[in-house]
Amino acid sequence: MLDSAISMVRRAAEHLKLSKEQVDGLLKPDAEHIFEVTADGKTYPAYRIQHSNKRGPYKGGIRFHPHVDLDEVRALAMLMSIKTAAVGIPLGGGKGGIAIDAKEHDKAHLEAVSRDFVRKLHEHIGPDKDIPAPDVSTDGEVMGWMVDEFSKQTGDTTKASFTGKALDNGGSEGREQATGRGGVITLREYIEHAGLKTPLKVAVQGVGNVGFYFAQIAEQELPVQIVAVSDSQRTLATKDLATGLSFKDITFRRGVIDDLVTENTEFLDRDAVLALDVDVLVLAALEDAVTEQNVGVVKARTIVELANGPVTEVAYQRLTNDKKVILPDVIANAGGVIVSYLEWLQNRAGEHWTEERVNMELDTLLSAAAHDVFARADAEKISHKQAAFEIAIERLI
Ligand code: NAD
Repeated sequence: MLDSAISMVRRAAEHLKLSKEQVDGLLKPDAEHIFEVTADGKTYPAYRIQHSNKRGPYKGGIRFHPHVDLDEVRALAMLMSIKTAAVGIPLGGGKGGIAIDAKEHDKAHLEAVSRDFVRKLHEHIGPDKDIPAPDVSTDGEVMGWMVDEFSKQTGDTTKASFTGKALDNGGSEGREQATGRGGVITLREYIEHAGLKTPLKVAVQGVGNVGFYFAQIAEQELPVQIVAVSDSQRTLATKDLATGLSFKDITFRRGVIDDLVTENTEFLDRDAVLALDVDVLVLAALEDAVTEQNVGVVKARTIVELANGPVTEVAYQRLTNDKKVILPDVIANAGGVIVSYLEWLQNRAGEHWTEERVNMELDTLLSAAAHDVFARADAEKISHKQAAFEIAIERLI
């Protein structure tokens, strides 16, 4: 992932005719905090990479995962700088992680780990310096422990030091749905911009938090039918691929795919979702989902990257050569970081906005960013991803 992030930056920088010093400056993080956290006699490697604060405080998640390593966190930190710049919010890029398997530990242990992380890092983070958020295996509860520890260490009472907090602890309305909603806004704008003939048939890989809310909101707000979804075990599709699944009155939960079954649906194998005869394929599961090996099966003309980096570099070239359009992750999944920004604004002003207001502000920011990317891609005859990177890099430079 680091390699493909770096090569995307290099390609965009070359097209922008940047100097070697400018490119090196873009790739080099401002600071790397590499340390260990300890709890109950156990020690774990921990990282916070602060990539760029040229446009505002560092911003990016903290993940708990046994495979977290320096290269991964570096790549994700740089992509956060690109993402916040591409959508034009006044924040920079950072990312953090602890190499721990959250599933193997109870809450008391995870709380102790979270608090030690903040004890060791608190001088380098804060509402005006670096504002972490949840990521893989971290959530509003973890942010609650961290924000509490931060206020103990520093006396800060704004709660603006972390975003993605629970609603009763300074969190924002609309945050849970924000990334999926952002994907809907991006696709809606693209349908209008490209004049796509509707209704469109859509398949969604990964019906987790992001994929589920994308599907539920898209079904309500866009001229589309969600004809298939998948999870880590299987694909659920409507038998004729002509009618849509119904998400009305369905509440998100792990295993929600079972709640979508009707007489008109059938289970297919896990990866069948990639090869269905649909107009739009939404990738909302994992990185590297479409690779050199399986890119040939993709029939959809439009691909939406809701996960981070779900299309490998080689697959990206193949799809682009085949005149397929990829709505890139740095725009399509930026709804989460935009609502994090709105949460930070609310905390700083001591306000709590309605969900309607949060959604409206998200819509305004993201639809403008998407239009900038579409216009640039059209004008320069480059991919949407390259256009997004070029816009972001110009802002960072
Ligand atoms: P999640 O864990 O809630 O959902 C992931 C879903 O993918 C699950 O339904 C899982 O069963 C499914 N899945 C896993 N492996 C699969 C496979 N091989 N094939 C099909 N489905 C598979 O996670 P999430 O929060 O929805 O995040 C999804 C992706 O979006 C991740 O890449 C994440 O980094 C990215 N992302 C999330 C946010 C956010 O706000 N949550 C923001 C930006 C990007």
